[in-house]
Amino acid sequence: MNPIKWPLWQQVLLSMFIGVLVGYFFKMEIAAGNMTVEQAAMFKPLGTLFITLVKMVVVPLVFFALIYGITNLGEGQNFSRIATKSIFTFLLTACFAVVIGLITGHLFSPGKGLSIDLSTFAANIPEQAHHTTVSLGGLLMGFVPDNAIGAMAAGNILQVVVFSLFVGFTLNMLRDKCQNVIALTHEMAHLTFKMIELIVKLSPLGVFGFISWVVGTQGLDVLQALGVLVLAVLAACIAQYLIFGILILVFGRVSPLPFYKKMIEPQTMAFSTSSSKAALTTTMRVLHEKMGVSRSSTNFVLPLGASINMDGTAIYLGICAVFTAQVFGIALEWHHYLTLILTCTIASIGAAGIPSGSLIFMGMVLSSVGLPIETIGLIMGIDRILDMLRTTINITGDASITLIIDSTEGTLDKETYYS
Ligand code: ASP
Repeated sequence: MNPIKWPLWQQVLLSMFIGVLVGYFFKMEIAAGNMTVEQAAMFKPLGTLFITLVKMVVVPLVFFALIYGITNLGEGQNFSRIATKSIFTFLLTACFAVVIGLITGHLFSPGKGLSIDLSTFAANIPEQAHHTTVSLGGLLMGFVPDNAIGAMAAGNILQVVVFSLFVGFTLNMLRDKCQNVIALTHEMAHLTFKMIELIVKLSPLGVFGFISWVVGTQGLDVLQALGVLVLAVLAACIAQYLIFGILILVFGRVSPLPFYKKMIEPQTMAFSTSSSKAALTTTMRVLHEKMGVSRSSTNFVLPLGASINMDGTAIYLGICAVFTAQVFGIALEWHHYLTLILTCTIASIGAAGIPSGSLIFMGMVLSSVGLPIETIGLIMGIDRILDMLRTTINITGDASITLIIDSTEGTLDKETYYS
């Protein structure tokens, strides 16, 4: 099928490179007055089409993969132990990630001395960012769909996760009476994996479309002004990346080096598409085939993580809150920080794994501690670049926790892992 015999991740890297060159050319043409900003977005539809295709399959993928994973885990104790362990670890790493974001925000002080008129960016603020408010109770209630099909139609992944867990759990109870349904869901899971695999083959085109657009049009002047913010996000992401390695060593009791080496392929996918959902099947495949993680973990813990665990997003929201406080010269007290840890964690759970999925939650995070939301319009200008970094950390977090849980369950094939 694939006309070029190169591994996909190399094709993706090549199209990123070509995208940068084309984007750079666009940028020069805009500067010379030969091209408009709209024209420089001419290849963006390729990227949009790619993400639309991913979104098309993501609901059935999450639904069948989770049912497959749960029915593979077996009944009762096994399932509840692994589920509790996964959810607890996901929440804990997200809270730590926010703390890292807050600390880095203070170390780098990206908002101090910034002389930008924020009112010019107010029009950029997405409408939903004004209204997205979530309380812990509200969030928990929002997990439960009043209509399972409605949740699927609306693409509400958290609600789909809850429904899928319930279906899988009940199927486990009815095991003998539902053998055919279980077999069918396993086959449907393979069908959706294959569909995503086919879509992901188009990723070099999507990546080219996005990168040429980002380089050609996105806030390069703003990028200069916000360079320290980008550096702060980068530094925090690197810190989190190293922490994953320590967690793998301490809790998974295996060397993190094979993990780092083998994660490059899914990371390239996440970095270039800015979508954890688009990178999900590549991550599943690499974890199972190259790292020897069991099918039940890659089909249960990983999609669960891709839906509720976004450490890069948690970091990013924490830094943006500190940034906003600095821009407006507002001092934050310790109780503000506690609130931020809570709201950033909630927002990272609720954000969709698509480009800029977390942006609408930033309004909620900032307002939770009384910060003005005007900086969202400013950050929008460079969001794509920050999104590439945080999505890479998002999927690295999901993968490292899946690996750790598989290792602690004794189901990791260490020979494959070290090969
Ligand atoms: N783009 C991110 C992801 O897919 C979500 C976000 O906007 O933080 O993981």
